[in-house]
Amino acid sequence: MRSFVYPQLGLAPLKENAVKLPKIGWVLMRVSRPIPEGFELKQVRVVRRVSGWYAMLTLKLAVDVPDQSPHGEPLGIDLGLEKFLATSNGKLVARPKFFVSLQSKLKSLQRKMSRKKKGSSNWRKACLKVAKLHEHISNTRKDFHYKVANQLCDEAGMLFVEDLNLKAMSSGMLCKHTLDAGFGQFLSILEFVCWKRGVYFKRVDPNLTSQTCPRCQTITGKKELSERVHSCPECGYRIDRDVAAAQVVAQRGVRAVGHTVQASGGIGLRRSL
Ligand SMILES: [Zn+2]
Repeated sequence: MRSFVYPQLGLAPLKENAVKLPKIGWVLMRVSRPIPEGFELKQVRVVRRVSGWYAMLTLKLAVDVPDQSPHGEPLGIDLGLEKFLATSNGKLVARPKFFVSLQSKLKSLQRKMSRKKKGSSNWRKACLKVAKLHEHISNTRKDFHYKVANQLCDEAGMLFVEDLNLKAMSSGMLCKHTLDAGFGQFLSILEFVCWKRGVYFKRVDPNLTSQTCPRCQTITGKKELSERVHSCPECGYRIDRDVAAAQVVAQRGVRAVGHTVQASGGIGLRRSL
């Protein structure tokens, strides 16, 4: 078993450095952060990772948190394969280089493992190394996602992203690369960070975002992957293609929440509230 959940716990299940698990009893644990006062412990999930056993505590506090209403500066986001993302205000976030080196390290460890005799103690040691690196890669990716999400929230009151489920269906984009890039995980982390920081978050229709001119709304047609610049034959608007797509996303978001859009390259979005 890699993880299991206790949906119900006994009375007073927490001590300073221990948790009382039904049927098992008191188990020592290192409390990674203090448990805030007034919260009730709802459930415990016990997870086994390569680096050890973890107890994930779910806490509950009896307050209602109202959903954010649309407010403040709008920011559109375009997720890509070449760069990690582009924003409607012209910021580009590169895909972190350390993933490439970690991936090649992983490949070489996996090759070493495959050369060992299955079931031998050397094979088992190699397995452990591979598993540890997997855990490290996944932690590093998550850190990166949280960091980017917080940076985006610094800059905006409303964040708009493409609805990837719709995108996958419409363009068959859901290839191996998309999954590797961990877009789904990033978007759920982004949604959570927005909620935590009081930023409005909305997914918008992804159809033709990279083929529409943000200034004059002309459909300019499909771009080749090598075409890095959006250049509109109608109005002459020129800008990085991913930034252009992010501006279209921002415009759709602003329209969807009922604000008015100024069609001037997508950045100067007028607010009506
Ligand atoms: Zn145009």
